[in-house]
Amino acid sequence: MRHSLTRRCCQWLKPLVSQFGVYFFFALVIGLGLLLSIVVFYSGKQVNAVIQPLVNESVPILRTISELKTKVTERQVIMNQYFAYGLNQAQFKKKYADNQLALTQLLQQSHPKRHQHPRHLAIMALDDNAKLLATRLEQAMQATPVDTDEARAILVESAIDTNAFLSELDHSFVDVSQEIETASRHSLRDVSVMIKLVLAYSLAIVVIAILVAYYIHARQRAEKKLAHAARHDRLTDLLNRRVFEADIAALGDTPPYAVILIAIDRFQRVQGGLGYEAGDELLVAVTARLQPIIQQFGGVLYRFESSYFAALLDLRGEDRPPELLAKALHDTLQSGILIAGHELFLTLSMGGAIYPQDGNDAVTLIRNMDAALEQVQQQGGNALRYYDQEMNARALERLALEADLRYAIERNQLQLYFQPQAKIDALQIVGVECLIRWHHHGQLVSPIEFIPLAEESGLIIPMGEWILRTACQQAKAWQDAGTPLIVAINISVRQFQHPHFLSLVRQVLQTTAVDPAWIELEITESVVMQDADHTIELLQQLRDLGVMLSIDDFGTGYSSLSYLRRFPINKLKIDQSFVGNLVPGNQDAAIVDAIIRLGHNLGLTVIAEGVETEAHLAVLAQLHCDEIQGYYFSRPLPLAELTRFLSQPMA
Ligand code: C2E
Ligand code: MG
Ligand code: MG
Repeated sequence: MRHSLTRRCCQWLKPLVSQFGVYFFFALVIGLGLLLSIVVFYSGKQVNAVIQPLVNESVPILRTISELKTKVTERQVIMNQYFAYGLNQAQFKKKYADNQLALTQLLQQSHPKRHQHPRHLAIMALDDNAKLLATRLEQAMQATPVDTDEARAILVESAIDTNAFLSELDHSFVDVSQEIETASRHSLRDVSVMIKLVLAYSLAIVVIAILVAYYIHARQRAEKKLAHAARHDRLTDLLNRRVFEADIAALGDTPPYAVILIAIDRFQRVQGGLGYEAGDELLVAVTARLQPIIQQFGGVLYRFESSYFAALLDLRGEDRPPELLAKALHDTLQSGILIAGHELFLTLSMGGAIYPQDGNDAVTLIRNMDAALEQVQQQGGNALRYYDQEMNARALERLALEADLRYAIERNQLQLYFQPQAKIDALQIVGVECLIRWHHHGQLVSPIEFIPLAEESGLIIPMGEWILRTACQQAKAWQDAGTPLIVAINISVRQFQHPHFLSLVRQVLQTTAVDPAWIELEITESVVMQDADHTIELLQQLRDLGVMLSIDDFGTGYSSLSYLRRFPINKLKIDQSFVGNLVPGNQDAAIVDAIIRLGHNLGLTVIAEGVETEAHLAVLAQLHCDEIQGYYFSRPLPLAELTRFLSQPMA
C-alpha cells in the first residue's frame, strides 16, 4: 500500500522533475515557505489581537480587583476602629479619605468599556452606599452623647455592604479570569496550529531535501552512465572507436606503437546463418578470449563496428612483439566457441600499421590498417600483415575498378566466353562452360579480379542475372539451330544465397524458353557446404526445374562425404590444381583417382578442369575420367571463335 503510494507519487513527480529538473523542488520549497509565512503572519496577528487586550486590560484588572478587595476590607476596618477603638474624628477622616481616594482611583482604572457592565454599576452603587454609611457613622459618632446604637447599626449595615462589595469583586474576578482563560485557550489553539504548520513545513523540507538528493544522485548516475556509453561499445563494453581516435591523438612523441585492425573471418556467414543474436553472442565470446591476451601484451582492445576490433600496442616492450600476439590470438581461437548449439571454429584477419611511420593520426592509421587487412582477407584471411605503401595504391585501384564495374552492363562491356568440354573417350564436344570477360579501357579483365569485387559490392546480383540470361539465350539459340550443347554457368556465393535466386532461375528459363535439360549450374564446393541442410533443399528445387548441377573446384572445399551423398547433383568438376601436376602414380593422381571413384560410386559424371597436355589427358583417361576441359582442347573462346571451332572436324 505504502509502496503503491510512493510509486504513484513518483509517477506524478516524474514528468515535473524531468521537465523542470531540480528547479521544481526549489519552486516547491519557496512556494510552501511563502504560504507558511502568510499563514503564520495571519495566525500571529490573531494571537496578538487576543493577547494584547489580555496584557493591557484583563491582567491589570485582576490586580485592581485584588487591590480593591484590600481597600474595601480596609475601609470596613477603619469604620470599626472609629467606633470601637476611639479613633478620633480627624484621624478617621484622614484615613477614610485616603482609603476612599485609593478606592475611587482603583474603580476608575477598569477599562472604560466595562463601566457600563451591570457588575460595575452594582459595585459603584455599593460604593456610594458605603460613602453614605460613613457620613452617617460620623454623624452618629459626633452626636452628644454618641449615638452608640445608631453607630452599631450603621456598622452592621456597612459590614453587609462590604461583603456585597467583596462578593461583586469576586464575581468580577471570576468573569475576567474566564475571559483570560477563553482567550488563552484560543491563542493556544492558534499557536498549536502554527507549530503544526511549521513542523509540517520542516518535514516537507526534509522530504524535499531527500528527493533532491535522490534526484541529484540519479542524475549523477545517469551522467556517469552516459559518459560510459560515450566511451564504450554497448555490446562488448570495450572502448569504442572514438576513444581509439582520442588515444592516438594523445600518443604524442613516444613512438613506436603498433595498431592492428582485427576482423573475424566469415563473420557475416555466421550471422547470416545463425541470426543477429548469435552474431552478438559470438562477438561477446570472442571479446572474452581476445581481451585478456591483448592486456597480457600491455595493449588496449577497442571495438569498431560489426566484427571489427582494434588493438593498440606499445612497441617499446621488446619482449612482446605483435607477431607473438597474433599467434596468441590465433591459438586462443583454436578451441571452438559454442553459439546457439553450434561449435564454431574461428580465425582472425589482422591488418597492422606502425605509429607514426604509417600515419600519426587515427584516420590515416585506420585507412592503412584497413588496406593491410583487405590484403589478408583477399588471400583467404587467418593472418597478420603490416601495411606497406603499395597497399593504398592497390586499394584505390580497386575502388576505381569497382566504380567502373557499376556501368559494365549498361555500357555493354561484358562478354561471355565459352570453353568447350569434351567426352574423354571420343573427344566429342558435349558442352561449354560460360566464362565472363570484361572489356575495360581496351583490356580484357579476368573474372578472378572483378568477380570478388562484384561479390563484395553486391554488383554480382545484376551481373549474375545478365550472365544467366545471356547463357540461356545462347543455349536456346544452339537448341533452335539443332546443335544443342550443355551450357555450364558459374554461380557465385552471393548469387546462390540470394533469397530470389530460385525464382530468378525459374523466370529466366521461362522467358528464354530454353530446354532446362541442357543447362548446368556450377556451384563451388565451399558454397554448398555452408548450411548444408538448406543447400540440399535449394539444390533439389533447382533440380525440379529441370537443370543439371555440378560442383566446381571439387577437392578444395573440404566436402563432408556424408553430405555429398545427399546432394542432388549430376557432376563433379575436379579442381585444376590437382590436374596441373598430374603424373602417373604421383600424389595428385591418387587424389584424382579417389575423386573419380567417389563420383562414379555416387553415380555422378566426373570432369577434369585445367587439362593442358596430352600427358594429363592420358592419366585422366587411364583413371576413367568422363570428361575434360582445358587449354589442351581449347581456351575459353568468344562466340564467333567457338562457332568456328565447333565447325572444325575433331583432331
Ligand atoms: P572456374 O569456374 O573454375 O573456371 C575455370 C577457370 O580455369 C577459367 O578461368 C578458365 O579460363 C581457366 N582454365 C580453363 N582451362 C584451363 C587450363 O587448361 N589451364 C589453366 N591454367 N586455366 C584454365 P577464368 O575464366 O579466368 O575464370 C576464373 C574463375 O572466375 C572461374 O573459375 C569462376 O570461378 C569465375 N568465373 C568466371 N566466369 C564467371 C561467371 O560468369 N560467373 C561467376 N560467378 N564466376 C565466374
Ligand atoms: Mg566453373
Ligand atoms: Mg573450377
